[in-house]
Amino acid sequence: MDSPLLKNLNGYIGGRWKDPGEDATFDVYNPATGEVIAKVPSMSEADVNAAVDAGSKALRLTQPYSLETRRGWLEGIRDTLLDNKEEVGRILCQEHGKPLKEAKGEVEYAAGFFDYCARHIQALDAHTIAEKPKDCTWTVHYRPIGVVGLITPWNFPIGMIAKKLSAALAAGCPSVIKPASETPLTMIAMFSLIDQHVDMPDGMVNLVMGKASMIGKVLCEHPEVPMLSFTGSTEVGRKLITDTADQVKKLALELGGNAPFIVFEDADLDAAATNLMGNKFRGGGQTCVCANRVFVHEKVADAFGKKLAEKVEAMKVGDGMNEDVDIGPLINKAGFDKVHRHVSDALEKGAELVAGPKPTDLSGKDLFYPPTVVTGVTRDMACFREETFGPLVPMALFRDDDEVIAAGNDTEFGLAAYLFTADPERAQRVAAALRFGHVGWNTGTGPTPEAPFGGMKASGIGREGGLEGLFEFVEPQTVPRGF
Ligand code: NAP
Repeated sequence: MDSPLLKNLNGYIGGRWKDPGEDATFDVYNPATGEVIAKVPSMSEADVNAAVDAGSKALRLTQPYSLETRRGWLEGIRDTLLDNKEEVGRILCQEHGKPLKEAKGEVEYAAGFFDYCARHIQALDAHTIAEKPKDCTWTVHYRPIGVVGLITPWNFPIGMIAKKLSAALAAGCPSVIKPASETPLTMIAMFSLIDQHVDMPDGMVNLVMGKASMIGKVLCEHPEVPMLSFTGSTEVGRKLITDTADQVKKLALELGGNAPFIVFEDADLDAAATNLMGNKFRGGGQTCVCANRVFVHEKVADAFGKKLAEKVEAMKVGDGMNEDVDIGPLINKAGFDKVHRHVSDALEKGAELVAGPKPTDLSGKDLFYPPTVVTGVTRDMACFREETFGPLVPMALFRDDDEVIAAGNDTEFGLAAYLFTADPERAQRVAAALRFGHVGWNTGTGPTPEAPFGGMKASGIGREGGLEGLFEFVEPQTVPRGF
């Protein structure tokens, strides 16, 4: 792929691009066309160790980088991302498949995290507490935890790293970053911009790519990496918990979801349908916060289903580089097959097709899965229990509040949930009962840089965004002074 931001298709260690050398490479595909658009190196264990060493050299404990310096890094990354939104968006669109307008929107979203941390970095300044217990003056410092490993998924190639890297830099933590193998090019583009436009010490940011199990092992076992921040599947999150247990490392985990989207009988159905469309089909349904189970009160189910079907049938599926496209391809064959399996399984077990093709009518020769709505979904169906990660809306009917709260919570996940009702008392009661870190009331919106976001239960540990996220990479150190 031709781009001024992809001149160095390589890792970045200690402030310089790694030499191409003899490294093995892996292919990066455009999922819309099936073409190989780049070959990037599969880096060695020695490279990952070198990246950690470079980070250790950049870490400053006794003479920490000032808040002003760290704010400058954050503002620099924010500005260069915004200045290059078009080109980064173009790269992102081609390696992920999401429509170009969404890809550019993701770059702005990413810049928002650097902006938020820059504006609130003062919160990380040391403070002395008002009381003087035990005849001492107590000062609390926020020390950088150390060199951190940041591992990200393919579904938001720049959004997910922005959440982590902004808070890590705000804390003064050097990082070793590993992007998903499906989408390393957006990350390379970001490093290219940092290299050219942001004045940061060598080793503050390092990029490694290649075999996930090896990179994960080095980061889990290296004594100079006290913390890993990971976004991805719960399965890999569980492995990181096990693999870091010996050294008792700190983990920030943003894992899978299985979001309920609840439409009560008193809801504004047009607003609920419009919000569901925006929530469900962003990224082709491949987001951790997108509705995975849509519960509709039986009194309004037919009316809601009709509204939804009309909107779904008007959507245009295709290559995200075409301006009028609403939904791009799924990321790979495994992603396509999972959606196909979920739709087939639901129909075999008695669900009805409301919109979209029968799975048997699809050729399966490309990665485009048309948006599909089914109704009559029950808990024995795969689409109820597993994260579909694709453009399927599975509707289940309910009769009363207690029933739908129990059904919504009937999952090991606890990331995002949504409820639509005109009754504030009901909204407060249901939101409090839903064990999810994010509960949208009359909105399908996902996270924002200004507010904490993260999961309960098997959806993760910790928060990204907001002041809570800003404090993820610091160790509070308390210094009581006697005289
Ligand atoms: P994944 O398979 O867990 O991969 C995520 C990242 O982990 C990739 O960079 C992957 O590298 C790496 N990885 C794989 N095995 C590893 C190991 N043994 N040690 C260390 N790293 C390893 O997840 P995904 O399929 O990319 O992403 C989809 C999942 O992410 C969904 O479950 C979604 O809900 C979740 N997600 C959650 C949030 C949130 O905020 N909670 C946000 C976005 C996505 P390779 O690509 O090289 O395999």
